[in-house]
Amino acid sequence: MSAAPGTNGVLVDRYGRVARDLRVSLTDKCNLRCTYCMPAEGLPWLAGPELLTDEEIVRLVRVAVERLGVTEVRFTGGEPLIRPGLVGIVTAVAALRPRPRISLTTNGIGLDRLAPALSAAGLDRVNVSLDTLDADRFTRLTRRPRLDAVLAGLAGAAAAGLSPVKINSVLMRGVNEDEAPALLRFALDHDYQLRIIEQMPLDAQHGWDRSTMVTAEEILTSLRTVFDLSPDPAERGAAPAETWLVDGGPARVGVIASVTRPFCGDCDRTRLTADGQVRACLFATEESDLRAALRADADDDELARRWRTAMWGKRAGHGIDDPTFLQPTRPMSAIGG
Ligand code: SF4
Repeated sequence: MSAAPGTNGVLVDRYGRVARDLRVSLTDKCNLRCTYCMPAEGLPWLAGPELLTDEEIVRLVRVAVERLGVTEVRFTGGEPLIRPGLVGIVTAVAALRPRPRISLTTNGIGLDRLAPALSAAGLDRVNVSLDTLDADRFTRLTRRPRLDAVLAGLAGAAAAGLSPVKINSVLMRGVNEDEAPALLRFALDHDYQLRIIEQMPLDAQHGWDRSTMVTAEEILTSLRTVFDLSPDPAERGAAPAETWLVDGGPARVGVIASVTRPFCGDCDRTRLTADGQVRACLFATEESDLRAALRADADDDELARRWRTAMWGKRAGHGIDDPTFLQPTRPMSAIGG
């Protein structure tokens, strides 16, 4: 562990991890009301002036790519598709050099309409959240009858040439944990890549309960009732998902087990919120304000220096198993995946 962040170069933390993957939340708003994320009435949204403008977002991403060694940029939310300037932001980020790989995490609503323009703008790949294939269950889980729109979004992404098209599914005990094999079958039939995620303590209601979380072990057991899963020989690197070959491959399935099999030791993520705060970790309880510096005419060197300092203090891991664990006050909907 060395003593202080460098004055130039990459986003290294005191454990020697280097952040190359920037997650940018473009809004805290969403057009769904998933029960494990927010209450039915929604949340007190960030006010307009608090939100970074499109130009401010592009500038901060440019600083990250040109000065801080970021090679991957993922746009998230809330729901990023509802951000009016999304296509313009993707176009500007795709013009950066060295060109980062650009991805999006979305609930898929409206993706069928926007995918061609996003693909043309430079979007490379997409993750679509889908926790059930049952229309009634979808409506209960999201409080909106929009399953068809999500399925159309997936098909639209594939048709627009985004690749891979991944599905992110969260399973909850007594709600949809029986659907793991069906979701994998659906993904295989459509050439999508399934990622099943352990539910994390990031909901706005702070109602997460470990006993209702479906563990990686349970997910794998459920999948193995239908499929033969074998270890994936491919290098995992810093990827959140642990992957298995399905029925001998080449198809794969991934499990993101943040709680029972944490992967913090290889974490390469840094996050920017829609209101210009740097979060060193998904579960960070501190943030560093770049918006204020930006609006006080800080130059790129200063913004880069502040970002390095913010990442330097990153904790070793999320600490969920630690008795002192504190769930972040900022909900998942305002952090992004
Ligand atoms: S919990 Fe934090 S440190 Fe761990 S993998 Fe996620 S972002 Fe990285």
